[in-house]
Amino acid sequence: MKALVFHGPGERAWEEVADPAIVEPTDALVRIDTTTICGTDLHILKGDVPAVTPGRVLGHEGVGTVLETGTGCTRVRAGQRVIVSCICKCGTCGYCKQGMPSHCQTLGGIGWVFGHLIDGTQAEYVQVPFADNGLVPVPPGVSDEQAVMLSDILPTGYEIGVQYGAVGAGDVVAVVGAGPVGLAAIMTARPLGASRIIAVDGDPFRLEAACAFGATDVIDIGAVDDVAAALRRMSPDGLGVDVAIEAVGVPATFTTCLDAIRPGGVVANVGVHGKPVEFPIQRAWIDNITIRTGLVNATTTEDLLGLIAAHEIAPERFATHHFKLAQIMDAYDVFAAAADHHALKVVLTA
Ligand code: NAD
Ligand code: ZN
Ligand code: ZN
Repeated sequence: MKALVFHGPGERAWEEVADPAIVEPTDALVRIDTTTICGTDLHILKGDVPAVTPGRVLGHEGVGTVLETGTGCTRVRAGQRVIVSCICKCGTCGYCKQGMPSHCQTLGGIGWVFGHLIDGTQAEYVQVPFADNGLVPVPPGVSDEQAVMLSDILPTGYEIGVQYGAVGAGDVVAVVGAGPVGLAAIMTARPLGASRIIAVDGDPFRLEAACAFGATDVIDIGAVDDVAAALRRMSPDGLGVDVAIEAVGVPATFTTCLDAIRPGGVVANVGVHGKPVEFPIQRAWIDNITIRTGLVNATTTEDLLGLIAAHEIAPERFATHHFKLAQIMDAYDVFAAAADHHALKVVLTA
């Protein structure tokens, strides 16, 4: 088959590799019909994720058709159209049982294995471990383009941003960073009845997208001196926002979130940080705040499918660019220069 192969920092190729096959009875073989590229793939290509070794097929998002299942599979069947979740799970270890398969111990302590520790979804076919648990059938009426956003991007914004932020009816929510992850948080916060969702970014195209995705207000970081103060002023009593979702991953935005929340508020940090951040506990302790962060578990896929069916979310809005799978080298170039191309997600179809 053909696949997008990592060959060390800065090196990738669309090339012929061995066909995957069923190895364990709990495996399934899936033909990829639709896939996409994640910011994490760009991090891997920069050499930021040393666990990814040369020769690895990249990709952890996809929608496909089950071709074959191992003898141990009982739920998933050949012919089903499925979402390949970015998180695999054995379903029986302690972490899987408590709903945190991001730390599945059977898979080596991390549920994110595709395009990381095993070959991924930017390929014609993929071998899926523990297929009964990690493949979610796509209901009729949901398109591939909608479904592929449920592999990673929407669960990430929803689980680590909105759910960890405990967004509730009437809340004033700040989302700092309006890239795909921040936009996913905006899109999934809206159905919960937040009274205000304020998108913060410096890119006018992304701020415009944020409004289309459900933001009620925007702050352009180039237009205000003190973003946190501006956010506090947008709460009814001026004390601060109820929830601040960090979706960038740099020290400045973490600080903005801490400074913007009210006493009793929550910072949900989704961004992956490459540097330490400052946490002034000497003044923060007295404010009864909560800080949560983590790796997506992708346990909300079915809930998100329900929101699509109810027309509460429209994930196809993420798809700004379309390519054939065989054009994935060009698709990477576009996604790597996303701001220049006004790109959110590039969708690749077989
Ligand atoms: P992205 O780079 O596409 O988007 C980041 C956005 O932040 C851009 O629109 C940029 O203009 C904006 N930005 C940059 N500096 C800013 C600042 N100072 N203030 C406000 N906005 C600023 O990234 P993405 O794909 O949306 O991902 C966002 C973060 O989430 C990344 O750090 C990514 O690694 C992380 N992530 C975390 C998980 C998880 O499981 N926790 C999963 C996926 C991605
Ligand atoms: Zn991802
Ligand atoms: Zn497990």
